Amino acid sequence: MLEIKNLHARIAEDGTEILRGLNLSIAAGEVAAIMGPNGSGKSTLSYVLAGREDYEVTEGEVWYKGENILELDPAERAAKGLFLAFQYPVEIPGVATMQFLKTALNEQKKARGEAELTTPEFMRQVKQAAGELKINPDMLKRPLNVGFSGGEKKRAEILQMALLAPQLCLLDETDSGLDIDALKIVADGVNALRSPERAMVVITHYQRLLDYIVPDTVHVLYRGQVVQTGDKDLARELERNGYADLIEQHAA
Ligand code: ADP
Ligand code: MG
Ligand code: MG
Repeated sequence: MLEIKNLHARIAEDGTEILRGLNLSIAAGEVAAIMGPNGSGKSTLSYVLAGREDYEVTEGEVWYKGENILELDPAERAAKGLFLAFQYPVEIPGVATMQFLKTALNEQKKARGEAELTTPEFMRQVKQAAGELKINPDMLKRPLNVGFSGGEKKRAEILQMALLAPQLCLLDETDSGLDIDALKIVADGVNALRSPERAMVVITHYQRLLDYIVPDTVHVLYRGQVVQTGDKDLARELERNGYADLIEQHAA
């Protein structure tokens, strides 16, 4: 489903190379965790996959369902079923969460050449998804993320993900200081959306999230490359020993 080959990317503003020949393959149905010390390039990878303009790809390929998506703009990527949830959710004052979700869903439909949802049909879908995720409907009347607690931001993000029904989900949970309730919201959401047709990539600095989302594969990112790949035991090992060994090994 996703095949990243020799990806090099730099910060557009100053030319600093962050991703330095990254290789990664994710199959349909797989839940992959990406771990790694702070500053390894985990968030940069998610931004590059989303198509953010602050980063320039200088080399390499990103194949998603047989297509090199580096040629596509962010809206086209989203229309093809990519969903990226960011470490720092944006606040949108003046736009009710409900309205934001409706716009997001209809933008996706438009990009796919499908008819927009009627308001009753949208309401039906949003109520059903909110119910399944145990989201209080009152939250949906408030402006997106404005004054939301960490847990509410996660709920809004997972709800958006459930409604858009993406095929490849990438969640960057690094350093976000999630409390245990928020971790569980993310984990329940990810676990509910697990399916043989869908791949999930969970970026996390800490192993703790992986107690709730048991990944099929674990990849360790360091200095812009995937330096280690394993199964869930690799995450446990990193939890016990930290990243010191890895850093030392690569300094030598
Ligand atoms: P991680 O998510 O693994 O902690 P990041 O991708 O956030 O790592 O960052 C990797 C490195 O790139 C860090 O040294 C960070 O300071 C730097 N970096 C990333 N994006 C930018 C940017 N837009 N401007 C300046 N430095 C950046
Ligand atoms: Mg970081
Ligand atoms: Mg990060």
